[in-house]
Amino acid sequence: MNSTPLPASATDWHTLEVENSLELLNSHAETGLSTSDADQRLQVYGTNELQETAGRSPWQILLDQFTNIMLVMLIAVAIISGILDVVKLQQAGGVTEGEIPFKDTIAILAIVVLNGVLGYLQESRAEKALAALKRMASPKVRVLRDSKQMDIAAKDVVPGDIILLEAGVQVAADGRLLEESSLQIRESALTGEAHAVNKQAKIALPEDTPLGDRLNMVFQGTEVVLGRGKVLVTGTGMQTELGRIAAMLQAVESEPTPLQQRMTQLGNILVSGSLVLVAIVILVGLIQSGWNWANFVQLVEVSLSMAVAVVPEGLPAVITVTLALGTQRMVRRNALIRRLPAVETLGSVTNICSDKTGTLTQNKMVVQWVDTLEHKYSITGEGYEPTGEFMNAGQKIDPQSNSQVKTLMFGSVLCNDAILQYEDGQWQVLGDPTEGALLALAGKAGLEQSSLTKQIPRVAEFPFSSERKRMSVICQQSDPNNDGKLENYVMFTKGSPEIILERCQEIHLGEGLEPLTPQLRAQILERNNEMAGRGLRVLGFACNYLAEIPNEGTEETTEQDLIWLGLVGMLDAPRPEVRDAVAKCRKAGIRPMMITGDHQLTAQAIAQDLGIASAGDRVLTGREISKLSQTELEVLVNEVNIYARVAPEHKLRIVQALQKQGKFVAMTGDGVNDAPALKQADIGIAMGITGTDVSKEASDMVLLDDNFATIVAATEEGRVVYTNIRRFIKYILGSNIGEVLTIAAAPIMNLGGIPLSPLQILWMNLVTDGLPALALAMEPPEPDVMERPPFNPKESIFARGLGAYMVRIGIVFAIISIALMWWAYNWTQAPGYTGDRDAWKTMVFTTLCIAQMGHALAIRSNSRLFIELNPFTNPFLLGAVIVTTALQLLLIYVAPLRHFFDTHWLSLEELGICIGFSALMFVWVELEKLFFRFYRRS
Ligand code: ATP
Repeated sequence: MNSTPLPASATDWHTLEVENSLELLNSHAETGLSTSDADQRLQVYGTNELQETAGRSPWQILLDQFTNIMLVMLIAVAIISGILDVVKLQQAGGVTEGEIPFKDTIAILAIVVLNGVLGYLQESRAEKALAALKRMASPKVRVLRDSKQMDIAAKDVVPGDIILLEAGVQVAADGRLLEESSLQIRESALTGEAHAVNKQAKIALPEDTPLGDRLNMVFQGTEVVLGRGKVLVTGTGMQTELGRIAAMLQAVESEPTPLQQRMTQLGNILVSGSLVLVAIVILVGLIQSGWNWANFVQLVEVSLSMAVAVVPEGLPAVITVTLALGTQRMVRRNALIRRLPAVETLGSVTNICSDKTGTLTQNKMVVQWVDTLEHKYSITGEGYEPTGEFMNAGQKIDPQSNSQVKTLMFGSVLCNDAILQYEDGQWQVLGDPTEGALLALAGKAGLEQSSLTKQIPRVAEFPFSSERKRMSVICQQSDPNNDGKLENYVMFTKGSPEIILERCQEIHLGEGLEPLTPQLRAQILERNNEMAGRGLRVLGFACNYLAEIPNEGTEETTEQDLIWLGLVGMLDAPRPEVRDAVAKCRKAGIRPMMITGDHQLTAQAIAQDLGIASAGDRVLTGREISKLSQTELEVLVNEVNIYARVAPEHKLRIVQALQKQGKFVAMTGDGVNDAPALKQADIGIAMGITGTDVSKEASDMVLLDDNFATIVAATEEGRVVYTNIRRFIKYILGSNIGEVLTIAAAPIMNLGGIPLSPLQILWMNLVTDGLPALALAMEPPEPDVMERPPFNPKESIFARGLGAYMVRIGIVFAIISIALMWWAYNWTQAPGYTGDRDAWKTMVFTTLCIAQMGHALAIRSNSRLFIELNPFTNPFLLGAVIVTTALQLLLIYVAPLRHFFDTHWLSLEELGICIGFSALMFVWVELEKLFFRFYRRS
């Protein structure tokens, strides 16, 4: 078929009849485009992507960096130090030999710019990375090409493509409906209207029909809530309605995490605190000197240093990098983070509520039993390969020879939306694995899907939903004489056996129909329970004969008085790795719970096998939950771990009940109606493989492999991230406290000068503290990370001793450096001293830096000593300590650097003394660990 480029921007497709639209776009409803035609069209129309016009422009991101309160304060410090330099220059009557005027100002401004640029690079990288993650989760689309159904990336859809819609799918492009069945679409993304719209293919509408009333059209970005549809794509990419209002595009979600928000608050507090400190130092200094303004310049210098010292300039960058690294580690373990806060809060999860099918089990179904009450057949064969035997009491039987089984097999093929195909050397299912297993079963009975669906075509359907737990199809019979009934149409219904059985009045027995007596019903339920009790997934089948095609929306009345056909039991083996993951959860104080749409006995058998529940544990069913009040449910959720036959609305109630009990809940979901529960959960988790687009959109995290074990792995990573963040906050803020106290001590001890200039403090906060802090963020997990209870999500970051540690270490740090300062001052001022008399300042500077190296090495573990750890498990830290120490030495021994940073040459003896004092810090932290170890044991 040749394609002529089309007016892709034409907006009046809704006025056309189906045939005209197909003609105009040179497409065909039954065959779709050919692959080569589609490739050509992709060249002409471009990819089906929206140009991201929303979000911040690069300039805005850059500008935003300088609105950070810490940077604003640094700019203020730079300006004031510039003014001080002017005053000093005036007093000295010009630049003295070898002095660089405005050095501090220039250096601080350079650091501000550097910090801003780094922040900009990091943020734009983070935004790009998030966008890339989002693309990884981007939807696939089922299209018809070369007469075959296939899944392709949404961006490769072209005008003229025929796409197939089903519940849960996000519509990938604008299109004209060709066929539909109970199709309901939520168009709130476009029209703001929350209610789903019933779509109709077989109408043409007036030109001026508003967007919300174009019932024969579907639009990109909207969501299929129910039913199915076949659509001719009329517009892609920016040529869609959504493309036209690109401003409505949701920007990549990169909202700050709770921790980042708290850190911004902390920044504000520290900046205001340091301003108060500045005021106090100046005021007290002036009062002490009897308002001698000659001291003013020195007082301002002291207070500027203190102001710079208080603020942890390096912290925001380290936190951003840690969170970004966390998302990368998680994606390597198949957990794709969609909202950044999840990285940090995953460590707080107390309950994981998981679906059964596909998450705890493999979702590779194979039918093992067919039970028509009269006969029970075991089925041989493996996987989805449609070859195997029907066995009865050790004898092969021909399923075609038994009319009940034959009808049931017809139902398996016709009441089915999946496709079984042989590709890449194996049998694969396109669609629901449960239905794939039924097609394989029918194949074993000699039925072939493509010919049967032509012979007995589907004319109507009542689609499956998790609430209904069943589906029906109505097909036109070519030879209407089944069961002696002459009606033109046959309806096949399949679903949860209890529900189907309730709707049956007759049963196929022998060669005819019999009324379903209570005894027969009890026998059927017993057979069902027997299979479910062995962990099998059981479906019930029924049929009925209809004289007319039922209208849409009449399922409740049509799916009545059915004829029972039989049960089909399929095996869906548990995932082998889940047992260990469940055990790991228990050790970590996390309660795994199963919430499934399947039968209670199936759920119980699997849960028991995996260690989620023990024999005899209570199961709560959807029906029971419906009868419970929310307060009653809140009590029961504390003891019940298995929830069966639940509908999505029950999931929502279970999350709410758990949250009311103070639990922090991770909940999985895959269906279109799971979105509210996923949004309500503290961590909403969607399935990457089987999940609907709608559930993914509502989630915080997507499991790329649908595997429960991945949730546990992500939780572990979350704990590591949170522990590492706490570790470097301890490390950085402890040092800030030490610096401030040391600077404040200098004037009190009357040393005639301050030991540290603002530039040196910035150097410490950004470089000598910053590099080891970044390395601490890479610390591998401690072996007991999954043997501790979860973090309380409400606790402050300073809880559990962190605040006390910071203050304690800050004071120890200050005592060490003040002692050194006192010693060094007296040493350099002694009459016989031949070196630089200001060398004491550099000794203080060096001690503060090197003590932090010891601190970094010791703080790796809260409980284990440095010698008990393998130093090479965090090579970054070793590298950071070596590089930082070397840089510090360069500042002292390389003349231009010494000059710029205002340091002084230290003799080997002086350097040795600095290292000796510094080592005390390391010794102190190690002794603390020994003390707490002893204290806890006794
Ligand atoms: P989980 O919630 O753990 O994923 P599930 O797949 O059983 O388990 P649902 O998809 O909500 O949950 O299905 C609920 C029930 O509906 C199933 O137990 C089964 O009895 C029935 N069912 C599932 N798939 C189909 C289908 N394609 N056609 C008819 N009935 C189905």
